[in-house]
Amino acid sequence: MPTLWTRTLIPTSREAPADAEVPSHQLLMRAGMIHRLGSGIYNYLPLGLRALHKVMQIIREEMNDAGAVETLLSALQPIELWHRSGRRNDYGDVLFVVTDQHGREQALGPTHEEAVTETIGALVNSYRDLPVTLYQIQTKFRDEYRPRFGILRSREFQMKDAYSFDIDHEGLDRSYAAMYEAYCRIFQRCGVPFVVVEAESGEMGGSRSQQFTVPAPTGEDVIFASDHGYSANLEKCATGPRDSDLGGEPTGEWAAIDTPECRSIADLCQGWKRFAGSKLKPANVLKTLIYRRPDGHDDGVAPWAMVVVRGDHEANAEKVRQACGPGLKLAEDAEARTAGFPIGFVGPHAILGREDTDLYIDADAARGGFWVAGGNRDHVHVQHFNWHRDVLAPAGLADDAATLIHDLRNAIDGDPAPDGGTLKASRGIEVGQVFKLGTKYSRALDIEVMDDKNQRVAPIMGCYGIGVNRILAASIESDHGHDDDGIIWPATIAPYSFLITALKYEGNVQAAADTLGRDLEAAGYDVLVDDRDERPGVKFKDADLIGIPVRITVGARALSDGNVEIKARHGGQVQTVALDVAASAAVALLKSIGVATTAGT
Ligand code: ATP
Ligand code: MG
Repeated sequence: MPTLWTRTLIPTSREAPADAEVPSHQLLMRAGMIHRLGSGIYNYLPLGLRALHKVMQIIREEMNDAGAVETLLSALQPIELWHRSGRRNDYGDVLFVVTDQHGREQALGPTHEEAVTETIGALVNSYRDLPVTLYQIQTKFRDEYRPRFGILRSREFQMKDAYSFDIDHEGLDRSYAAMYEAYCRIFQRCGVPFVVVEAESGEMGGSRSQQFTVPAPTGEDVIFASDHGYSANLEKCATGPRDSDLGGEPTGEWAAIDTPECRSIADLCQGWKRFAGSKLKPANVLKTLIYRRPDGHDDGVAPWAMVVVRGDHEANAEKVRQACGPGLKLAEDAEARTAGFPIGFVGPHAILGREDTDLYIDADAARGGFWVAGGNRDHVHVQHFNWHRDVLAPAGLADDAATLIHDLRNAIDGDPAPDGGTLKASRGIEVGQVFKLGTKYSRALDIEVMDDKNQRVAPIMGCYGIGVNRILAASIESDHGHDDDGIIWPATIAPYSFLITALKYEGNVQAAADTLGRDLEAAGYDVLVDDRDERPGVKFKDADLIGIPVRITVGARALSDGNVEIKARHGGQVQTVALDVAASAAVALLKSIGVATTAGT
């Protein structure tokens, strides 16, 4: 039976809630698809759930086709697993932890690497049982610092997560490729435009990662594409060679300047006129950051690392780790101060006379010209800082200058790309990510299987995530995902394929609408019938708002000539068709809409 509007729950509204900043949040609320229960907590109402189920169905079909098998792991996880993997701390406050009645802590899974590794470890003993890729579609919990944008970043959400276990790296490559290709098919079938960019795998402990991103101006992610083909997200994006020169001449006499009440480089630049009588731009400030190497680091390596980037640039955590060594953390204020670094006012010359600190300079900071740097005393900066005169010569580093220079900052629009092209920045929404994990989790949780030589080996893992609800929101945020009137669903994930708008649901209009609905259902489509006692204007407005791909209007006047009207939600003209061919005409129209193609890979 087609769904009758009056028998379901579609609480549409004209007004969006005040906290809804982006179109998907506004429209999903206005279309009565979701309902907010608390900060970052959403209910899925009947329309929202139907769309969610369509995405899940596409995911299931493609996962099964790619040879993955469905499971359901518990959302509640013993906290010990997180201690053993070392992620209890790394995940920090994002991990929801509940205490049971016996006082024991449990985690509400934000992801399932630990749980799946433990499970495979308990159940699989031999290489003969591998490879295996398990997947699940399940509720995840993350205590996001800033839940926002409705279901784009909520605290409870649906994720499809998959985990592959292989005996060797060739196996991992095959499992990863199978998931990569399944992901491309999933996003294509969901009708969302997407790009695939290189992503950082460091935080997950692996060797390669790619991120599936839906281009959208409202996206939180910054991605880069080179005109020569390279593409990566902000965390990962490398830059090509940048000019640098640590031998430049001084621009003037070194001078200490009192700079009271400067908490940031912006404060410093704003106050500089007062402090020094001239203008100062962030690009002329050296930002000196102090990192601490992990305890028990190799003998012979200094415990502190000093990283210098230009004041208008951001240090990139993973690039810093790659240049300076693993496990490195930005030093806490207190520990750095105890060690003699007055955080907020450190300048590169703090390195002089210290055997315990290594120096790393980003290429754009490693230049001649006018520099202001920290004065190594609270509330003091220096101007006319010069690399050669003030650091390299006195530290005896002049001959090693080239070895101090690295790529340490986030890429920016217009940077040289590593492939020789130029990087262009744009925004997008991360909808999925695939990782080659290697043995990080199998080793941490100490699981092994027998290989074909009877040796015990740690299985090699991959992990693969998709944000199921986020696909719905990303579709709306993407190009052609909405217009001023409402949502425009791709045919494949729309809550219903057809909306039959009965202008007055009675008599022969009702009979025609019912017959048409049943014919379309018999042909395999889902149908919503607007049977409300509302004015046509209200019905048409709501039809546009909820975004069903094809609307069929049944009204007494057209029907008296044996006709109904059909119209595609997006860019369609109203067509008058005879009632007896209306079902097939509507199906043909639906099929002609098609789905968006890949925006590029
Ligand atoms: P983000 O960087 O956006 O916080 P993430 O990289 O931490 O995401 P993953 O651990 O890779 O997320 O999770 C897999 C997928 O789950 C993501 O690609 C994303 O689509 C989805 N996802 C992650 N966090 C949320 C959230 N808070 N709300 C909705 N979907 C989410
Ligand atoms: Mg991710």
